[in-house]
Amino acid sequence: MIEVYEKLLNKLGHKHWWPADTPFEVVVGAILTQQTRWENVERAISNLKEKGLLDLQALSMMEAEELEDLVRCTGFYRQKAKRLKEVSTYFYENPGILERPKEELREELLALNGIGDETADSIVLYAAEKPGFVIDAYTRKICRCMGIEGNYGELQSLFEDSLPQDVLLYKEFHALIVEYGKQFCGKKRCAECILVENGKM
Ligand code: SF4
Repeated sequence: MIEVYEKLLNKLGHKHWWPADTPFEVVVGAILTQQTRWENVERAISNLKEKGLLDLQALSMMEAEELEDLVRCTGFYRQKAKRLKEVSTYFYENPGILERPKEELREELLALNGIGDETADSIVLYAAEKPGFVIDAYTRKICRCMGIEGNYGELQSLFEDSLPQDVLLYKEFHALIVEYGKQFCGKKRCAECILVENGKM
């Protein structure tokens, strides 16, 4: 997998993800980005920042309807507002949660309503800075094109077992996959693909 990383890095350069001022902002972004474009998440985060609501206690105590209005631009806003309130309440009541060992943190996140593997690993990697490789739809697509099939855990093990346990590398690699996915896979530029010969799928 390191060759794939190097090809992507040469093609696209460093991405320096995740764009956020604090670990809690990463958590909020990871929930809001479900099933929407990042531009919409940026608008919602900016709405929350303007009102001083990127704060665990403030967010956990907000009225649901007010929060729904602020995150409406990300779609599924009722669900997302509810998840944000639940997650911020949980984080507020469990200070230091991000310092827990990786597996323990991951299990706790997965037990929360609306947090699946990809969101949990995004928080583990980008908020807690622990080495959990994030598998998203583009990662699955690229793996399929390279003839690799598997469920979430199998693909994650494939990356983690073949790479050094390096948080910065994991962060950059996932960011590069997403960027490549947006620029090439999503735009059907398979004839120009640098990962699969002749762009065959
Ligand atoms: S650009 Fe096309 S061939 Fe290349 S990985 Fe993406 S979907 Fe597959």
